[in-house]
Amino acid sequence: MNSDAIISSEPATGKELWRGEPGDIDETVDLARNAWPAWAAEPLATRIELIRRFANEVRRDYEILADLIARETGKPLWEAHNEVENVISQVEVSVRAYAERTAQRKLDSALQGTAALRHKPHGVMAVITPYCAPAEIPAGHVIPALIAGNAIILKPSEHAPATAERLLNCFIRAGIPAAVVQPLHGGPEHGRALAVHPGVDGVLFTGSAQNGIGLNRKLAANPGKIVSLHLGGNNPMVVWDTPKIPDAAVLVVQSAFSNAGQRCTAVRRLIVKPALYAPLMDEVKRLTDRILVGEPHDDPAPFMGPMVSAERADQLTESFLYLISHGGKAIKHMTRPRGGLPFVSPGIVDVTGMEERPDVELFGPLLQVIQIDDFDNAIAEANATRFGLCAALVGGNPQDYNRFWANCRAGMINWNRPTTHLAQAAPLGGLGLSGNQRAGGYYAADYCAYPVSSAELEQPRAREGVGFRVD
Ligand code: NAD
Repeated sequence: MNSDAIISSEPATGKELWRGEPGDIDETVDLARNAWPAWAAEPLATRIELIRRFANEVRRDYEILADLIARETGKPLWEAHNEVENVISQVEVSVRAYAERTAQRKLDSALQGTAALRHKPHGVMAVITPYCAPAEIPAGHVIPALIAGNAIILKPSEHAPATAERLLNCFIRAGIPAAVVQPLHGGPEHGRALAVHPGVDGVLFTGSAQNGIGLNRKLAANPGKIVSLHLGGNNPMVVWDTPKIPDAAVLVVQSAFSNAGQRCTAVRRLIVKPALYAPLMDEVKRLTDRILVGEPHDDPAPFMGPMVSAERADQLTESFLYLISHGGKAIKHMTRPRGGLPFVSPGIVDVTGMEERPDVELFGPLLQVIQIDDFDNAIAEANATRFGLCAALVGGNPQDYNRFWANCRAGMINWNRPTTHLAQAAPLGGLGLSGNQRAGGYYAADYCAYPVSSAELEQPRAREGVGFRVD
């Protein structure tokens, strides 16, 4: 196991932000195992009360957390503020979801007693999370898991340990026992070893498809462990008949480039009718040229910051070069405006003429454009991916949208909204390589507790049935 110190640096400046030792997996799991029965035995009302106090602690830490998120990921401060607000609103969403999705039910019948449905927590849950939303994504698993009565171990991204520490600190200040919400710092090896640890009852993984699939393979021999995989996408946006080209261009740019394209829901493939291609791409280019790329705290505020690391920025630049050297035509060249720092300008490539378009998630500000002249073919192109996270139609009429909605294979399908626009009070999940169909968001309650059905009578009462000899 790698014992090197975990060091988190600010992508925008390269300055060191946080340093710590990798966690001890056995010790962390033991503490969690010992702590969870008492936590699970607390009345639900107590757990909910403590989670609501957590929301207050996050409100108290609003600026501190937003500042940390912005510095640690490089995202603009305004985006980091949105993220903190989403953490706070996640609390009431999860309380409502738990009540609705896991409500107790009793079906009384005088003769047959009671048939009861109740839910139980799994036990110790490993929550393994990415860097792109380092407070919101952990909170989206941890809050519902705690409400359900699980103990959690959060293995945050090695790129965002400082944010995770501060977030968990809010749970502890709210009065939740420290052994019930522990961090485990480390890189991928720590994630793997934690997930397969026999003391872990469930694994809630958000990250790339490649790593999620590898993990799933490792866990296949143990079907009793609940596994939720929230993975990437190769998301399409289809722009069809619309007179509102400037609005369509804004939706394209917001969907493709906000958070420097480092969102699972970002648009990667823009599919456009040839008649709209020239005016739309002119607008998209004009708007992209006006994007302010800068440091999180810059004034005026930037639209997007850097990528998370030089390595990730190098990989994306290589992907851009791959596309243009294999038949893609650059509409906007991707550049590295600040030398060794991971700032990347948005790149746009027309890949219509490419013989084989790689069906991979290019996780950064890189948009591929495809011209298609028929609506059914545009839907087929949208579906020409192994992923199935989200898709959007811009333009068209209600009949077009009905066709798009009915035939598009994705877990989130939007109309005239950015692909990144999601209602928090809705489930969030995908098909194909985008996950294992355990939607999160509102439906996270489903994987944080399991149903137990019970047939119950106050006193034993039974009658011999068929098949006994008469004495
Ligand atoms: P990543 O897969 O590199 O890492 C995610 C986490 O998993 C990190 O904590 C990492 O240390 C750990 N990890 C890596 N390999 C592992 C392994 N083999 N076993 C166990 N743990 C392992 O992802 P990232 O680059 O940090 O984040 C970006 C990815 O996350 C993108 O693919 C994006 O689409 C996806 N994502 C998905 C959602 C969703 O809800 N579907 C949301 C946000 C991000």
